[in-house]
Amino acid sequence: MNGLKLGAHMSIAGGVSNALDSAAAVQSNAVQVFTKNNRQWFGPPVNEEDVARWRQQMPTLAVEYAVSHASYLINLASPQDPLWEKSQRAHKDELQRAHAYGIPHVVLHPGAHTGSGEEAGIARIADALNRIHAATPECADTLTLLELTAGQGTTLGYSFEQLAQIIEKVEEKERVGVCVDTCHALAAGYDFRAAKGYTAMMETIAKTIGVERVKCWHFNDSKFGCGSRKDRHTHIGEGEIGVEGFRFILNDPRWDGIPMLLETPKEEDNDGNDARNLAALAALVEEIERLPFGLRPQQQ
Ligand SMILES: [Zn+2]
Ligand SMILES: [Zn+2]
Repeated sequence: MNGLKLGAHMSIAGGVSNALDSAAAVQSNAVQVFTKNNRQWFGPPVNEEDVARWRQQMPTLAVEYAVSHASYLINLASPQDPLWEKSQRAHKDELQRAHAYGIPHVVLHPGAHTGSGEEAGIARIADALNRIHAATPECADTLTLLELTAGQGTTLGYSFEQLAQIIEKVEEKERVGVCVDTCHALAAGYDFRAAKGYTAMMETIAKTIGVERVKCWHFNDSKFGCGSRKDRHTHIGEGEIGVEGFRFILNDPRWDGIPMLLETPKEEDNDGNDARNLAALAALVEEIERLPFGLRPQQQ
């Protein structure tokens, strides 16, 4: 039996490896990071000292899994060549940075067609990924995880069918996976808050991308309702999802070993929100032994 890999997105202020300390501080065994400032296209060269510290601290702090999140500026669906090409260079950089840290997965928003239409946008994303893959054979073990989106504006990737259409056109399919964000799934119209709806969503996943294509979850509650197409994260149990949807995922053995990362709001000083959200998730797990040791509820 595999255990659960639970964690949160953590700040990289002072160095990417500092995120590991933050992950350990809340007793988690998984973490999401940016490998550079997320609001910039390109970062400074990778800091080798920080890479060395990362590789040493990860086992020391018992952080079993890390994923990076690519810059929000990247748009591989863009119909405009300069932006499309810049996006390819930026995502190549993201893969190379993750690779340097030994991070196996980079989460990417598939992109927005900005008026060219869905079919054109999908073709553009796959074309870009094929070019990126061809240019980075050394990063073959660093997968791009296309994130299921809420479907705001002209954003693509708001259905499992659409993610499957993108992957269908990718040549090196073993280099792509999927990240399912619970907030986005609800906003996109997947109502997994009751058993019937969860089962239906799982059937859709199995029929389209395949369950094994899902390499990680983003665990966020949603400020807005099912089908709202609005992407606003909130704390676990405090939004439109409520705790039941999370309970299904956490106790489904098909997700054993597939990491679940929070992207819920934090205050400036990260005042315990992550710990609170992790505790809320831990309380939903039926087999306590599947939880990371530090997150197991105290036996009375
Ligand atoms: Zn997300
Ligand atoms: Zn989101």
